[in-house]
Amino acid sequence: MKNYNLFINNEWVKSYKEEEDKVINPATEETIATIQKGTKEDARAAIDAARTAFDVGEWPKLPPASRAEFILKLAKILEESLLKYGEIELQNTGKPVKQVVDYDVAYTLDNLKFFAGASRVLDGVATKEYVPDGTSMIRREPVGVVAAITPWNYPLMMVGWRAIPALASGNTVVVKPASYTPLSTLELAEAIRKVGLPKGVFNVVTGSGSVVGEELAKSDKVDMVAFTGSNEVGKKISKVASESVKRLSLELGGKAPFIVFDDADIEAATEGAIIGAFINNGQDCSAATRIYVQGGIFERFKNLLIEKIKKIRVGNPTDPKTDLGPLISRDQLTRVKQYVEIGKKEGEVLYEGENKEFNSGFFIKPILISTENNKARIVQEEIFGPVPVILKFSTYEEVIEKANDVTYGLGSSVWTKNVRLAMMAARDLRFGTVWVNDHAPIPSEMPWSPMKKSGYGASTSRYSLEEFTTLKHVYVDLTGQVRKGWYYQIYGDRP
Ligand code: NAP
Ligand code: MG
Repeated sequence: MKNYNLFINNEWVKSYKEEEDKVINPATEETIATIQKGTKEDARAAIDAARTAFDVGEWPKLPPASRAEFILKLAKILEESLLKYGEIELQNTGKPVKQVVDYDVAYTLDNLKFFAGASRVLDGVATKEYVPDGTSMIRREPVGVVAAITPWNYPLMMVGWRAIPALASGNTVVVKPASYTPLSTLELAEAIRKVGLPKGVFNVVTGSGSVVGEELAKSDKVDMVAFTGSNEVGKKISKVASESVKRLSLELGGKAPFIVFDDADIEAATEGAIIGAFINNGQDCSAATRIYVQGGIFERFKNLLIEKIKKIRVGNPTDPKTDLGPLISRDQLTRVKQYVEIGKKEGEVLYEGENKEFNSGFFIKPILISTENNKARIVQEEIFGPVPVILKFSTYEEVIEKANDVTYGLGSSVWTKNVRLAMMAARDLRFGTVWVNDHAPIPSEMPWSPMKKSGYGASTSRYSLEEFTTLKHVYVDLTGQVRKGWYYQIYGDRP
């Protein structure tokens, strides 16, 4: 069992109070590591390290190519240790081995390579004389010290989304990983130490969100918080951050609609619904939790979907044949089961897997619920478990209205062979992503950009790099005159 310290100034240090927390494997409930229970003092030490590295260090002034070089070296380590990082993520999250290796870590690797390259081509308007005899140019500057506060559902990937673009664009970073899942972030810190990133540029402080996270959000010395997590915590962060006027990027919850029109390929759409609804055991902000199916194919779609759900293999995440592992924690399991009970009152359970054979771990089998009530809690609230809801609709207008009738606005998908219908839905759905005949892909080049109460600010893509930079206008006089022609507007007589 490994004991992890805090990573501050490129050193592994004990926390201020030297208290430890246990990290457990959600499949076995065994302790797999200990971490330091960081305090406010530790958060401040990490902020100071990042502050110094930004204010007097070389990192923000390096040419983009030099910073990219560090990130590519980090990517190389990740590439050579895909299995190791996959194993850590598996142990800590209970995700199946095929998912952690082929998706979580492989995708993070692609994110790193993308951000390294894209940070070298950030653009702005051309340098030019926009007024006569005065040259204007844009400098794109890093924001400063960035606090990256990450959730437990994609631990490594969220460091890839929130800390790496910040680094690539010249910021220094303090990461506060979710308390359930800090291990891959801490291992990445060791890789960062190995590639020789200047000290203080990347720091990791473990500890509770309400202590370490809040200190980061509050601090006058932090310029930006990049947060991915729940709406509840997102609101708390905005509140405390407002005192010190800092930039925020908030990626919050979701409740994705999955819309299937009568003309859709039912085989493809049911396959897609399985992927969309059960990705990461439903613990995914883009999970297809609301499956709207048009009346003409509803019964056939429903029956085929249930047949496919029955084939989902829940079990030991180390088994390459496992599709779904456990949920992240006992609390999450309790919460999901409560929603299932609510669902039984608000609708009808169409399929519920048996859970008997699990002696340990936070396992739950997939459940499909139907309802006719779009205002039901199971339709409106984020459950974060393998519990999709299926609803019948008749017309285009009706389904768009129902799909949009949630507070969230992250992912959505439409299934149809009709190009016009697909393009209309792409226009009318108030979600930051609309997939057509698929659900879930987010290429590194494309923005993951929330709408409505799902937050604001893009993750992934060049637009994410823009989030972590601020614009500076530099104006150079070319007239050489002592009294410029327009000065009379402020003092003196009109010429
Ligand atoms: P969470 O409870 O909001 O926690 C997220 C992070 O915030 C954790 O590191 C947590 O620390 C920290 N935190 C908690 N209280 C805090 C406070 N008062 N001040 C500052 N930080 C605080 O979210 P989660 O349960 O880990 O993750 C699930 C949520 O994330 C879901 O709502 C999901 O939709 C959302 N999510 C969104 C996206 C997206 O792209 N929009 C992606 C992934 C997940 P502790 O762990 O120590 O509590
Ligand atoms: Mg939470």
